[in-house]
Amino acid sequence: MEALVSIEQEAQAALDSAQTLQDLEQVKVQYLGKQGALTALLKNLGQMDPAERPKAGQTINKAKQALLLAIDSQAKLLSQKALQEQLAKEKIDVTLDPRMAELGSLHPITQVIESISNFFMSYGFQKQKGQEIETPAYNFDALNIPKHHPARHEEDTFYFSPEHLLRTQTSSVQIHTMEKQQPPVQIIAPGRVYRPDSDATHTPMFHQIEGLWVDKGIHMGHLKGLLIAFLKDFFGEKIQTRFRPSYFPFTEPSMEVDVTCVQCQGKGCSVCKQTGFIEVLGCGMVHPNVLKKVSIDPEVYTGFAFGLGVERFAMTRYKLQDIRLFFDNDKRFLKQFRG
Ligand SMILES: [Zn+2]
Repeated sequence: MEALVSIEQEAQAALDSAQTLQDLEQVKVQYLGKQGALTALLKNLGQMDPAERPKAGQTINKAKQALLLAIDSQAKLLSQKALQEQLAKEKIDVTLDPRMAELGSLHPITQVIESISNFFMSYGFQKQKGQEIETPAYNFDALNIPKHHPARHEEDTFYFSPEHLLRTQTSSVQIHTMEKQQPPVQIIAPGRVYRPDSDATHTPMFHQIEGLWVDKGIHMGHLKGLLIAFLKDFFGEKIQTRFRPSYFPFTEPSMEVDVTCVQCQGKGCSVCKQTGFIEVLGCGMVHPNVLKKVSIDPEVYTGFAFGLGVERFAMTRYKLQDIRLFFDNDKRFLKQFRG
């Protein structure tokens, strides 16, 4: 019985110093487990005086029950304490300032495409998408580009096979549209085009916008009036425009259009090679051969077409020297074009 008293005291001390549920489990094993101290006392009952045995058995069992109860209640306390600690640790401070997500914005090329498209759509032009994989028939033949023309060479065109290529200009959209639709045809076709070319002012993929207006009585006055209004809208009222005779297989007559150099305001600089002007687009009256190829009678209908490079417009507007900036995806560059 003396042993029981000291075991009870030890057990109580172990219980008091238990900090975690694992510590408690340890106490339970140490005193009540198969090899436990109290269990050993019970096992030894057989060696006692039979007269004292029942009383001793009762006392030990009582001590065992008491210890079990104490362990249980301590376990409840410890698990509550653990829960409180976890709740305190995981508390969310709702008064903290939120971490703002960084907002993206439209790519400058997209912005320029939208701004140009919107101008022409306000004049009744319909947007057409077209396709990037073309056949020589649409990319060259229907546009009156002769078989021997250098643009057809492999150095100037990406071919998949002799029958399929990546379109080199958006003019092919003209043909697809006029095949399906009789005049009036009034479309604007922005999109990607491809040419094997790469330096500070050329990338193998770039964007063009093609415009086409075919109807009865369309003449050069319409072409010039509309393009001058467009260029002033895009580059500013102060700029001057200049139409120079040029040659394209799909228009006749053909012209290139210059605007006042935005770098030097026309005074002459290295960008404009001291001329005060920079070339921004090509245009002309649709060649009768092109109309005939899509079964539109050039004696009844006339039209004009123009094509421009979106990157060139963007570089001119934002005074950039290197086209590759648009495709590096450097956020420090792109952030500057947030609307
Ligand atoms: Zn200049």
